[in-house]
Amino acid sequence: ARQPKDFEELLTMLQRGGWEVKRGKRMNLCDIETIRAVLGRHGFHFSKSLGQNFLTDESVPRRIAEMSGAREAGNVVEVGPGMGCLTAELCRRAEHVVSVELDRALLPVLAETMAEFDNFEVVQGDVLALDLAALCREKFGEGRAVACANLPYYITTPAITALMESGAFEHITVMVQKEVAERICAAPGTSAYSAFSIYVQYHAKAEILFDVPADCFVPRPKVDSAVLKLTPLAQPAVETRDEKLFFALVRAAFNMRRKTLVNALGPVLASAMSKEEIVSLVEAAGLDARIRGERLSLADYAKLADLASEKLNKG
Ligand code: SAM
Repeated sequence: ARQPKDFEELLTMLQRGGWEVKRGKRMNLCDIETIRAVLGRHGFHFSKSLGQNFLTDESVPRRIAEMSGAREAGNVVEVGPGMGCLTAELCRRAEHVVSVELDRALLPVLAETMAEFDNFEVVQGDVLALDLAALCREKFGEGRAVACANLPYYITTPAITALMESGAFEHITVMVQKEVAERICAAPGTSAYSAFSIYVQYHAKAEILFDVPADCFVPRPKVDSAVLKLTPLAQPAVETRDEKLFFALVRAAFNMRRKTLVNALGPVLASAMSKEEIVSLVEAAGLDARIRGERLSLADYAKLADLASEKLNKG
């Protein structure tokens, strides 16, 4: 059996084994005085360009970790641990937590704040440059995994895309700007509906778990946040014969969202079809020729893409 390296570790091992352990006061990583003291000790300064806004309300990381599926899956990849408030909550629930942190200056901070956990590992690097599927295989073998993060705002879209495309996670629970969360979950015909809503909803079930006001962070960001949970689907939400064409039509429609769908599709279809033929195509999909692309559901785009693909292949 593994020997505990110190008293703290012994207490943690006993706790995991189901023993009730009365501890002294545990470090509260959301307490502003603790944050100042720890960061001050390490000479750390917040970097705006790295999207460093740390949580100061301890109920938030607890709720995120609880709702992330970390306990059930056992393995977690976290993006951007910062000084570790969410990381610690994940470590209390999962078997193994691997956190990817870009900022080297946070490594000594994490060594101090995560000292009580033997199921935590940090990988220094840019999450966008990593092969996340390979990382999961290396760290967790065939084990189930979830992803969890309070994402740095400047990489929200590429980070969500990379986490989804890795195919490695049962759930992806991320805190993002509230407006982005609403955009991702938006319904057709709303102003928030976008090409990215369709991309995410095609591959995953998307739900907003709860909102987090800007006051819950230091430094305080300009906008509110929301926690978003994505559960990748076994099969895409709609069936389409030509996925590439489906997304080409979606992108074209939203590139010119103020125009009618018929006009917006010109750049993708005009080389193979006249405007009249595009009108007929839109009508054959059961849509009004004057409709705008922002009103179409995923199923509408799938139907349109299938009809277009048929026509392009014939022609
Ligand atoms: N998890 C902490 C919390 O909730 O208080 C910190 C979250 S803070 C919004 C984002 C974190 O992501 C920072 O620690 C930042 O250094 C890190 N980060 C920024 N860009 C990154 C990247 N490309 N890859 C990995 N981590 C990154």
